[in-house]
Amino acid sequence: MNDPQLNSDSKNILVVDDTIANLRVLSAALTERNYQVRCTKNGSMALIAAQKEPPDLILLDIKMPEMDGYEVCQRLKADARTRGIPVIFLSALDDVFDKVKAFTVGGVDYITKPFQIEEVIVRIEHQLALQTARAEIAQLNASLEQKVEQRTAELERVINRLNQEIAQHKQTQEKLLHQALHDALTGLPNRTLFMEYLQKAIQRQKRNKDYLFAVFFIDLDRFKTINDSWGHAVGDRLLMAISSILKCCCREVDTVARLSGDEFAILLEDLHDLQNAIAVADRLLDKLTSPIHIDEHKLFSGASIGIVFGTANYQNGVEVLRDADIAMYRSKALGKGRYTIFEREMYDRTVHLSQIEMDLRYALEREEFLLYYQPIVSLTTDKIIGFEALIRWQHPEKGLVFPGDFIGIAEDTGLIVPMGEWVLRSACQQLRAWQEKFPNSSSMQIGINLSNKQIKQFDFVDKLAKILADTGLTGENLRLEFTETMLMDRGEKTIELLAQLKQQKIQLSIDDFGTGYSSLSYLHSFPIDALKIDRSFVSGIDAESKNSQIVQTIITLAHSLGIKAIAEGVETPAQLARLKNLGCDEAQGYLFSKPVSARQAEAIVASK
Ligand code: C2E
Ligand code: MG
Ligand code: MG
Repeated sequence: MNDPQLNSDSKNILVVDDTIANLRVLSAALTERNYQVRCTKNGSMALIAAQKEPPDLILLDIKMPEMDGYEVCQRLKADARTRGIPVIFLSALDDVFDKVKAFTVGGVDYITKPFQIEEVIVRIEHQLALQTARAEIAQLNASLEQKVEQRTAELERVINRLNQEIAQHKQTQEKLLHQALHDALTGLPNRTLFMEYLQKAIQRQKRNKDYLFAVFFIDLDRFKTINDSWGHAVGDRLLMAISSILKCCCREVDTVARLSGDEFAILLEDLHDLQNAIAVADRLLDKLTSPIHIDEHKLFSGASIGIVFGTANYQNGVEVLRDADIAMYRSKALGKGRYTIFEREMYDRTVHLSQIEMDLRYALEREEFLLYYQPIVSLTTDKIIGFEALIRWQHPEKGLVFPGDFIGIAEDTGLIVPMGEWVLRSACQQLRAWQEKFPNSSSMQIGINLSNKQIKQFDFVDKLAKILADTGLTGENLRLEFTETMLMDRGEKTIELLAQLKQQKIQLSIDDFGTGYSSLSYLHSFPIDALKIDRSFVSGIDAESKNSQIVQTIITLAHSLGIKAIAEGVETPAQLARLKNLGCDEAQGYLFSKPVSARQAEAIVASK
């Protein structure tokens, strides 16, 4: 399109007419009105002039030799350079003039000759104004289009950015959700996700009675030891290896999850038969008890498994997992490296035990424990040389409870530590009180039972020294009783502990001797003072029996180690006679006295 000159002064008009007179008149009139005028006499020249320098308007005669005005106009319109130039046709009034054709070929107006110059000027101005307006509109359109394009591009950029952000956000959300439901180390589902699947399995079973599922609770047997000995990096890799093993032993439909630390769970779904679950457990145990190679280490982790079969009785996953956990603990108690199928009785027992545990905690706070004392008699002088302190629990509802019913739980829960400390302090205080009240009892000794957890406390020796210092009792008056298992459990450490106790002149004896697994070579290296022969051997020595030989052997062993033999559970005069005969040094048992209360024991001390 031509560059429109808005100032009429500089408007450029091309006049095409083969009649020179017309050219002259028009040229003169237009020049007078400040138009720039070019004139051509024929169509070809007009086309050249228009192409060379496109005018703002063309006055075009129709009737011309060679090429008439229509054709010139058609050609102008066919050429992009000249297409936009408005063309006003000139025609003689008497010509056969086709107005329709004039407009069809692209003319915008026509003027008939002879022309009124004023009319020509008006028509020219009108067309130029139109042309200017068109140009303005075109410019406006162009800039509008540009703006729209810009805006569209901007919008597209914003939309792209938004889409990117949405995608990123979605990714982050998915990642967060994955993290919230999976274990970071192994990538396995965590407890939350496992419970979700388990809940669905329970609901499915309620709808469809043929649908069978089972849950395994798996706890590694030696993970802590491996972690402590080889470090966390090896521990982590072991956990990853275990998770692969667990997945390998299951099908796609099953869920293997890590619950925490070294605890895993498996949900076996769509079982044909519960026997399938047992086959999986066998396969798992086989793999988990075989060595696992991590770098140069050959690790034996082992695992205990508890199995629960989904039954209609279960309302929620928590109950199922709880029972699987209980069954797993039974596996541990039965020696680890095995599986146990949950039975209702196990739950009842667990509830019972946790009730006792709670009661025990209260009992410690409310001081419901008390000590009974069983006299120990010298078989050479027949005199009471001391007592064994035995704990009792004065239960507010059950009455007097014996240690067999609670010591085990106290040990499992660690309550034995504060309980044992209480026993030590109370027994020492009691003997010291009797010594002060009855001076001739100053050489009496008090026997106190210890537990494994208690002696494993790093400050056990210090605490004991403090109790002796606080009560004013000397170590010579104290007899500490260890079981064989306690001594064998920790090898060199035990020897060190016993040596420290010996420095305080404390007497040391091995309780229930013969029932544990003493290594004779170790026995020799322990600085002990007495072997207490277990009641189970003493009870059968009336006759010439196997027991009799065992008792004889223990007494001989004690004497060959240069220490005393003390018989437990002496109930009959015949047993006593036989023990004396075998050279046993001391004895305790119902024959002499049952364990008695502090008040009754004091009466015995007083009568000495
Ligand atoms: P133990 O140390 O071997 O104590 C001897 C047990 O045999 C006592 O049972 C005693 O009452 C019983 N006994 C003594 N003479 C006879 C007898 O002639 N016939 C029969 N049938 N039994 C006799 P008790 O008091 O029930 O204690 C059982 C076990 O509980 C103790 O065995 C000891 O291992 C543990 N225990 C008791 N008190 C404590 C304590 O304060 N701390 C710790 N850690 N364990 C304790
Ligand atoms: Mg004892
Ligand atoms: Mg005993």
